[in-house]
Amino acid sequence: MKQSQLFTRVKREAPKDEVSKNAQLLLRAGFIHKEMAGAYSFLPLGLRVLNNIMQVIREEMNAVGGQELSLASLQEKELWEKTDRWDDAKVDVWFKTALKNGTELGLAVTHEEPITRMMAQHVSSYRDLPVLAYQFQTKFRNETRAKSGIMRTREFIMKDLYSFTRNKEEHETVYATLREAYKKIFARLGLGAITYQTFASGGMFSKYSEEFQTVSNAGEDVIYIDEASGKALNVEVLNDEVLADLGLKRENLIERASIEVGNTFSLGTKFSEPLGLSYKNEKGESCPVIMGSYGIGPARLMGTIAEVLSDGSGLVWPESVAPFRVHLLSLGADEKAGETYTALTAAGIEVLYDDRDTTAGEKFAESDLLGMPWRVVVGKRSLESGKAEVKKRTEKEAGEVSFEELVSFFQK
Ligand code: ATP
Ligand code: MG
Repeated sequence: MKQSQLFTRVKREAPKDEVSKNAQLLLRAGFIHKEMAGAYSFLPLGLRVLNNIMQVIREEMNAVGGQELSLASLQEKELWEKTDRWDDAKVDVWFKTALKNGTELGLAVTHEEPITRMMAQHVSSYRDLPVLAYQFQTKFRNETRAKSGIMRTREFIMKDLYSFTRNKEEHETVYATLREAYKKIFARLGLGAITYQTFASGGMFSKYSEEFQTVSNAGEDVIYIDEASGKALNVEVLNDEVLADLGLKRENLIERASIEVGNTFSLGTKFSEPLGLSYKNEKGESCPVIMGSYGIGPARLMGTIAEVLSDGSGLVWPESVAPFRVHLLSLGADEKAGETYTALTAAGIEVLYDDRDTTAGEKFAESDLLGMPWRVVVGKRSLESGKAEVKKRTEKEAGEVSFEELVSFFQK
């Protein structure tokens, strides 16, 4: 894409009322727009990042047999009363609304209830299970704190997967598969080394739930890391007597602020029993379906990447999520740069081409702020040398690649 055609503009300063680093950087770079506290819009560059993150997640969910669907956002009061989760005293983040005739409705906080009721119309025999279904869908939550930029908003897209299995053993197998899929996702997003599988309190059906926590000072959570095992504990379970069965030793724990980027829950029959989701086993007996739920926040991940991978000059996107792989700058060599742009894009390499008539200083500073993984500069010197200057966003020194080799350099 030619930058002269991009409508978003880079700003020198972030709005004064914006306290979080991720939103400051993303607002300045024109990736997002702040509608109000707790609600942001995604602009072209930001949407490309969000879509890339969702695509990584989608690929890993499909790889474990997840089937993508999309459930409605309007939710029925009667359904949520059946599981006793309509009351604001039980779920304190509801946004509720009403039909013109006065019938109360909820805006989706999560989707266990609707997906369980829906599944009851499709699952009846042991032959129909297991099922893994997931979506990328908007949740609305009336969060009290909204000071973490795009990491905690009142409207956000969640990837939520729900597993439906025949028994506890089958659930455990699926649960472990999802845990590994989550690890792959965080590794592909460049967060693997600082994201910890973290034990948190479980609820009625399992001793623990698990969170994936990324170490960052911008985090609202605190975890206790055991570096030897690469696992961590949430404060809720820090004083539990079982640490031993988790393979963790209390003396070794290191306290860190962290961001919860995802989580996994064993739900047992908490939803299937009250909502009548059962199946007939081989003997024809009716059994409740065993469920699990698995959440990830794509925008929270985008904010996390902005927080932890950025540097003093701006954003730093890993190749897996960058809006464009290459930022091509023309410094007074528009014809050669234009040819380079055509050659790279024709080869399927995604390029943002700064073809604007601005100073070199401005182009370099904006390029650092926007954070594409590679910068390619075509200037007057390139015309003599036959080489473009190529620099990685994460490195200080630039190298040179001849124009003939440029396409194959990026195809590697
Ligand atoms: P938290 O403890 O941070 O409020 P949660 O326990 O409410 O998170 P879930 O309801 O399980 O989280 O949601 C699954 C995932 O959705 C979280 O791991 C997180 O990545 C993301 N998420 C949750 N709340 C928000 C929010 N308000 N804004 C953006 N992403 C969110
Ligand atoms: Mg919450």
